Amino acid sequence: MITVNHIAQLRSFCDDARRAGRRVGLVPTMGYFHEGHRSLMRAARVENDVVVVSIFVNPTQFSPSEDLDAYPRDLERDDAIARDEGVDVLFTPDTAEMYPRPPLTTVHVGDLTAELCGASRPYHFDGVATVVTKLFAITGPCRAYFGRKDYQQLAVVRRLVADLDLPVDVVGCPLVREPDGVAMSSRNAYLSAEERAAATALVRALDRAAEAVRAGERDAATLRGLVVAEVDGEPLATLDYAEVVDAGDLSRIDHLEDSTDVLVALAARIGKTRLIDNATIEVRGAQVRVDLGVRS
Ligand code: AMP
Repeated sequence: MITVNHIAQLRSFCDDARRAGRRVGLVPTMGYFHEGHRSLMRAARVENDVVVVSIFVNPTQFSPSEDLDAYPRDLERDDAIARDEGVDVLFTPDTAEMYPRPPLTTVHVGDLTAELCGASRPYHFDGVATVVTKLFAITGPCRAYFGRKDYQQLAVVRRLVADLDLPVDVVGCPLVREPDGVAMSSRNAYLSAEERAAATALVRALDRAAEAVRAGERDAATLRGLVVAEVDGEPLATLDYAEVVDAGDLSRIDHLEDSTDVLVALAARIGKTRLIDNATIEVRGAQVRVDLGVRS
């Protein structure tokens, strides 16, 4: 594995690889790796000849009140994990490399970013869309791997690639959970033992909604109410949002029609830590398929 800090180095490495007929896979991350990141690296390893993993804690996707400075970092450990997963290139630019000047050009993906996490983090997805577009421009034609843990982010990335005709195949990968069901996140490192136990409220809330759909419930407000009630029942949790939306365009729905794919998404603060989680539910007549991801 080689580590490169400069845009020009990564660009010429990827250009050379493609000229030699090799397929390039890209895994954009903010580092502090866990099994969720590893699962993306593995998927990229299987489907490509060259695997590039970027680590960049992108300042433009944090608001001034958020946790940019506190965001966990451990480059030495990440380096060892990336090697273990057979990664070829670790791209670790600093902020001056990615933003040598304040950018006047940003990428804004309209309606998809207005609700869910976009409602409480109004500039977040502009920061994500802009940095991901830059990473795609630097890497060039590739497959790019994103987790369904950040479902709205995946939808935003798919849409910007389609709208801007970028030469990138976006691959969505399963949400990876801890053995007790809590979605893996670098931010779980912020939680005290008590908070970590309370964090199970999010997946419990999704389970409750999923069980209700399996039992025949099709009213979105009722399902949302179950999610809210479960989170409200956890004293250490404060709900940011819970929504039941169309899994394709993230628009609100009233009723789970037959043949719809639905996303149940929520965000909650456990103490000071904001966590997100989601499940998708396919309704095909009486058949209901719930995707809560995989437990590691
Ligand atoms: P991050 O480093 O948190 O920005 O995440 C980098 C990539 O890993 C994104 O595509 C995330 O969706 C993905 N990811 C983070 N956590 C998980 C998880 N628990 N399961 C699957 N993918 C994840």
